[in-house]
Amino acid sequence: MAHELDIIPGSEWGFFTLPRPMCIAGPCSAETEEQVMETAKGLHAFGIHVYRAGIWKPRTHPGSFEGVGTPGLKWLRKVKETYGMKVCTEVATEKHVLECIKYGVDVIWIGARTSANPFLMQEIADALSGTDIPVLVKNPVNPDLDLWIGALERLNRAGIRKLGVIHRGFSTSAPIPYRNDPGWKIAIELRTRYPQLAFFADPSHMAGDRKYLLELSQRAMDLGLDGLMVESHCTPDQAWSDARQQLTPASLQNLLESLVIRDNTSDNEAYKEGIDALRTRIDVIDENLLKLLKDRMDVSRRIGQYKKEHNVAILQAGRWEQLLADMVERGAQLGLSEASIRAIMTAIHDESVRVQNAILES
Ligand code: PEP
Ligand code: MN
Repeated sequence: MAHELDIIPGSEWGFFTLPRPMCIAGPCSAETEEQVMETAKGLHAFGIHVYRAGIWKPRTHPGSFEGVGTPGLKWLRKVKETYGMKVCTEVATEKHVLECIKYGVDVIWIGARTSANPFLMQEIADALSGTDIPVLVKNPVNPDLDLWIGALERLNRAGIRKLGVIHRGFSTSAPIPYRNDPGWKIAIELRTRYPQLAFFADPSHMAGDRKYLLELSQRAMDLGLDGLMVESHCTPDQAWSDARQQLTPASLQNLLESLVIRDNTSDNEAYKEGIDALRTRIDVIDENLLKLLKDRMDVSRRIGQYKKEHNVAILQAGRWEQLLADMVERGAQLGLSEASIRAIMTAIHDESVRVQNAILES
């Protein structure tokens, strides 16, 4: 089922700037008035005009720094007054929303632990009803696209039309160098379904370490996302939360300057002709792939029939492992990556098993 969203694109919110990336930056947490103002000064100096700072922090362990709470909103107001920046913070409850409205917070974001919770999302949506504050929704901690879309729908039904998203990666137990699994596939899927959604990546929470910020930011730009939300702190190593992943305003400026920003498209005639020819070739190959898949499934069906007649189980694990190993090896000879061959063959095999099962049960 298609879930429609009635959205005002970021370009009409009044503070989105081109060229890409539109960068929202600021510390993980507001800690002291001095730290908030010092960081804002450094960011404002090179043109950052939307400032983030966490006021209420969702922490894994009680007793970790859980944010300064309402007094921090006064510091954000001072950032607005002093530097003319828009300010942005995370809300997780009705009370947070009401406090933000009271103190003139310009943009709010929903954290990953909150967007995963429909009760909290509904509470926040109800509290926001009647306002036109832009809301950026981070992906839920688990890779569940529908849950993410559901959170957007709740806000949209409450009348919030200035909606955007922040992709910050997913919790994983897999051994990866990053804090979170980037899971770009889900972001691309959401981008494709709702191209009008303002789309940010949060390389800081994805990375967990400042050394990965550049590669992840570059990836987000190569995927054509609109912007970045990056954690920046005047003295990152002394930060009260997420110290390893934060970087100084000066380092952030360097990072932004070293990004290679490619156009989403080009009006150049030679480019258009070339890309059209290549796309036509891709279309023909895809059509052939479909025909081959159909032929393969027809054979699977006949195998299912055959196994049924001879009372043989569908899954012959040894045969499948051998087939996969052969394909991986032959793929490698053709320059195809093991990961892609595994993913494609596993999907084809799953469907083949499903088809055979249907025969057996018929
Ligand atoms: C944050 O932005 O500081 C934060 C807590 O992020 P997330 O919800 O992505 O973990
Ligand atoms: Mn953080």
